[in-house]
Amino acid sequence: MREQNKQKEQRKQKEQNRQSLHLDSQLIHAPGDGDPAFGDVVVPIHLTTTYEQPACGQPIRYDYSRGGNPTRQVLEDQIAVLEGGSHGYAFGSGMAAITATLSLFSPGDGVLVPNNVYGGTYRVLERYFKGFGLDYQIVDFADIEAVARALRQSRGAIKALLFESPTNPLLTVVDIAALSELAHEYGALAVVDNTFMTPYLQRPLELGADVVLHSATKYLGGHSDVIAGLVAVGDKALAKRLHFIQYATGGILSPFDSYLLTRGIKTLGVRLERACTSAQALAAWLEEQPQVARVFYPGLAHHPGHDIQITQARNGGALVSFELTAGVDARMVATSLRVIALAESLGAVESLLCHPATMTHASVPAPLRAQMGISDQLLRLSVGIEHAADLRADLAGALAHAT
Ligand SMILES: *Cc1c(COP(=O)(O)O)cnc(C)c1O
Repeated sequence: MREQNKQKEQRKQKEQNRQSLHLDSQLIHAPGDGDPAFGDVVVPIHLTTTYEQPACGQPIRYDYSRGGNPTRQVLEDQIAVLEGGSHGYAFGSGMAAITATLSLFSPGDGVLVPNNVYGGTYRVLERYFKGFGLDYQIVDFADIEAVARALRQSRGAIKALLFESPTNPLLTVVDIAALSELAHEYGALAVVDNTFMTPYLQRPLELGADVVLHSATKYLGGHSDVIAGLVAVGDKALAKRLHFIQYATGGILSPFDSYLLTRGIKTLGVRLERACTSAQALAAWLEEQPQVARVFYPGLAHHPGHDIQITQARNGGALVSFELTAGVDARMVATSLRVIALAESLGAVESLLCHPATMTHASVPAPLRAQMGISDQLLRLSVGIEHAADLRADLAGALAHAT
């Protein structure tokens, strides 16, 4: 018994100390990480679906793994801490996280989204939630006045703004603090999809947002080997409702995938340091290439969102989009690369390039795509952690080949 108390005291002290650590250290030391029974330094994978109960009907910490699981719990507590919230929830994909979040609303409610919202978010709103009576409206989030007007005209029906910053694939920056404040003025929630930035670069809850969510498939997992979603909130009542939705609808993340994410998150800081430094250098280099008409990267001083970006995020991130000049064959550039893989998705250790017009945004009708500023000459590069010189040489070779 005394031994047990000593262990408990040690864990408490460790936890208190953990809270005073820098973010880089907190990535490595998750709350409740390790295992008191054997001293594991990594979180054990608890595959169990059920838990033996000491007596009938006596409440215990875990009773069935859909409702809670110790491996998943470490990850859920960790995303809450990293985002500066109080509660986190892990789902089987980013879309499951978005679906659970949208399930907070009721028929007759409205959600406001920008015209360049993530395609899957648009799809689930248009082809799924609309059928349940949840309405949505599209406005340009760079135009705060337009957002205010939509909120005013909805007379309280709009219950949430759901947005990303920077956006995909043109990396437009929106003002998270200003939009959150505006949402609150009209009694709506600010929901931020923080996939592109991660809590390492940007923490929306600290900027006033109410819900932050992730496709953890991208930077948090970081190795293109797990599909997952996370949600974090700082409000107890919201947390309770989200937990109910997670438990009731069941889109949970498995113990093994939860483990993979805790493993990926440990290197988030070092991966992003490398990738963002390379992205900044590549963006500057791309601007000088005769085959490149325009570079979209919020880390560049002349990017229209640069000033907001540096107040709300640590740097410009690790995604760079660029438009080729008229004579250059974008598809040939995309297929002439030898190091960078032509693939959808982003945020992995390996660099990935995509041609939005034929890949991520192929289902958007061409006129609408043009209206959104996504030309056939646009490429989006997710900078990985290879040596920057190899990435530059790869791009140089492909640009030369396609000219
Ligand atoms: C990939 C992505 C999603 C969807 O996540 P999945 O894990 O693929 O379900 C949502 N939002 C953004 C910004 C994404 O990039």
